Amino acid sequence: MLSLLLAVASLAPADSLRFVVSGRDSAVPARTEGQSSFVVAQAVAGALGGQVQRLPNHRYLVTLAGVAFELADRTPYAVSDGRLYSLVAAARERDGALELPVQFFTDVAPRAGARLRWDAARRRLIPSAAAVARGTRARTAPPVETPPAANPAAPAAAPPAAPSRPARRRVIVVDAGHGGRDPGMRGWRADQTPVREKDITLGVALQLEQELERRGYAVIMTRRTDTLIALTDRGRIANRSKGDLFISVHVNAANPNWKNPRAARGFETYFLAEAKTEDERRVAQMENEVVRFETEADAPKDDPLGFIINDMAQNEHLRESNDLAESVQHALRRVHPGPSRGVKQAGFLVLVKAYMPAVLVEVGFGTNSSDAAFMSSRAGQQTLAGAIADAASEYLARYEQRVGIGGSR
Ligand SMILES: [Zn+2]
Repeated sequence: MLSLLLAVASLAPADSLRFVVSGRDSAVPARTEGQSSFVVAQAVAGALGGQVQRLPNHRYLVTLAGVAFELADRTPYAVSDGRLYSLVAAARERDGALELPVQFFTDVAPRAGARLRWDAARRRLIPSAAAVARGTRARTAPPVETPPAANPAAPAAAPPAAPSRPARRRVIVVDAGHGGRDPGMRGWRADQTPVREKDITLGVALQLEQELERRGYAVIMTRRTDTLIALTDRGRIANRSKGDLFISVHVNAANPNWKNPRAARGFETYFLAEAKTEDERRVAQMENEVVRFETEADAPKDDPLGFIINDMAQNEHLRESNDLAESVQHALRRVHPGPSRGVKQAGFLVLVKAYMPAVLVEVGFGTNSSDAAFMSSRAGQQTLAGAIADAASEYLARYEQRVGIGGSR
């Protein structure tokens, strides 16, 4: 399966990685293995005024042209500023050095904001003069976390944690579960008015959009109307928009085999991981069911390797997703008339494709008439949306404190 991915590498094997520093043409020898070329990261970073730091557990911090990347031995991706970038081949340790595919320098680093340009025609990597200066200063400075694009005019040595430093506006992806020919679960209010999951999720999501925008965030909606979006496309939308958070809104349904199914009520928040309990498996199965509504055309044409990489990518965000899920539960506890059913974990297809902290919120049970009434009322939806927006904002504040970037949000 690896060959599939390597076949799409834009870069043919080459003998060396050539680059220009201070107007002079230099080269670092490359080693070709399979269909990929590798170079010693220390050699390239050194020549460009960057550095490679060894971290515990075969991980590395590579600072290059003003941008810091985390890489790991035998891992085909790089993480920078909370974003994940795929490599055409896994990074590897060899004779005490870190070898990276040439594509990391020619494609990934420039995309991540490193001041480098790959001149494909002449096959040379060209750093901007400022990048070399930045890189040199980065030798003594802590890893630069703020993307340079955020403030190109700022001096490179400005402390990254300065609270006044403007950061990129945070992007939150809001996903209203189900839609179109997939109604999701069906339930009833006490007066026998039917409720459909797809209407509740859209109602809450649209309110959530407003609540988040009011708090200064940029919001991307996976859908704003009654349409069906394929599960994996929802994650792709999130990735394309470079979202910082992914929040999927759903409505729960009691298992008819429970002793008193109509009495079950309350809210729970999931993050992506293997389902551990029977109940978690039930919810995952129910939410993954939608796949049967997706036609051939909607269906993803993913290869197994893509899935493995997604799996690894998501692991990077497990702890963050768990933390976000805790925030959501905490905020809902303050406003929801039903009980908290806690933070749970299960394997949701919708979350697999999102390369960012991602949660799925079951805002209540449509099979319980009180929950159904609350969730389908405008006031209830407003309340739920406000609490989820608070949770996102609390989570992001904690996150920014942890990674030491002053976010203007
Ligand atoms: Zn659902």
